[in-house]
Amino acid sequence: MRSTFLPFFKPSIGDAEINEVVETLKSGWLTTGPRTKQFEAEFADFVGAEYAIAVNSATAALHLGLDAVGVKQGDEVLVPTYTFAATAEVVTYFGATPVLVDCAPGEFNLDLAQLESLITPRTKAILPVDIAGETPDMDVLMDIAARHNLKVVEDAAHSIPAKYQGRWVGTLADLTAFSFYANKNITTGEGGMLTTDNAEYAERARIMSLHGISKDAWNRFSASGSWYYEVLQPGFKYNMTDIAAALGLHQLKRCFEMQQRRESIVKQYDAAFGSMPELELPPRQPYSQSAWHLYLLRLHPEYLKIDRNTFLERLKAANIGFSVHYIPLHMHPYYRERFNFTPESFPRAAENYRRVVTLPLYPAMTGQDVQDVIEAVQTIIEENRV
Ligand SMILES: *Cc1c(COP(=O)(O)O)cnc(C)c1O
Repeated sequence: MRSTFLPFFKPSIGDAEINEVVETLKSGWLTTGPRTKQFEAEFADFVGAEYAIAVNSATAALHLGLDAVGVKQGDEVLVPTYTFAATAEVVTYFGATPVLVDCAPGEFNLDLAQLESLITPRTKAILPVDIAGETPDMDVLMDIAARHNLKVVEDAAHSIPAKYQGRWVGTLADLTAFSFYANKNITTGEGGMLTTDNAEYAERARIMSLHGISKDAWNRFSASGSWYYEVLQPGFKYNMTDIAAALGLHQLKRCFEMQQRRESIVKQYDAAFGSMPELELPPRQPYSQSAWHLYLLRLHPEYLKIDRNTFLERLKAANIGFSVHYIPLHMHPYYRERFNFTPESFPRAAENYRRVVTLPLYPAMTGQDVQDVIEAVQTIIEENRV
């Protein structure tokens, strides 16, 4: 057994990131400026989107995305129940209603058949989540949206770099929100990016991201900038700092390398757990090339003497960090009480939650770390078979 605790996640920050941050601090330009502009251009290029707007979180990007497509008070937005708080909370910012959708059979991603059945005349948009970095079937989803005249803002907090049918996430939906939170696949500490091919959405989001101020406000203190500005809308304060962008520039360059390390760990986990009937490997779809943000292992409780919570206690006792993605939204007090949900209101999500364990999966793991996780999981299973 390990003598030291293996954290659930550790970021991979290289010398290039550190040096760029130091250069930024010395440059005299700390907030939105040349490095943010460069990061936006390189990110747009990377995913093949026309426009990329750097912001201070994915939550901000989702908010700006829903604002760009015109979500208003009284509208409904379809959101999976199996996600993080941010996905649905942004809907409430508008006084709109998040309408929750269960998981697809056997999956963590949302059920597109149920989604379509929940569309009403008030439905304005769909906010799908790429759980673990794997998209739902986006052609089917975009077709549903087109037939019902809905807009799609994709929560791609997990999906850099990821593809659907060979196309990069970032160009599939009307707008796409990425996260650079500390434990995401690439990080700026806190940060996010909104991508779109639509010039009007991009312009609206850019203006709203910085107080609703007219064009290039960030530039107004530079030599070439103008002192004059106009407030067009009461906007928000969502701009990315150049200190954060300094990290992002180099994290983006290392994106594939880090992704390859994630994939090699996934292969080792699959090989170790695939033959154990007590365990179910993460779902994967032929149309998807996952970013492998998370390794979502599910227990088969009928083959075990212990439940998931006891399994987690044993993992902790073995010095292995873990997480649980997710406690479905409908099981949290706010949603439960507002909509009178029970766990069984969304039975597939509730079942996933009862069975899931998120194992450590990050490029900074050593070969020994990976072996330690595998051994700990195998030992707990072997000791608790029925
Ligand atoms: C992390 C996360 C977010 C929020 O990202 P921030 O950058 O922290 O705002 C949104 N949705 C999902 C699914 C996430 O995992």
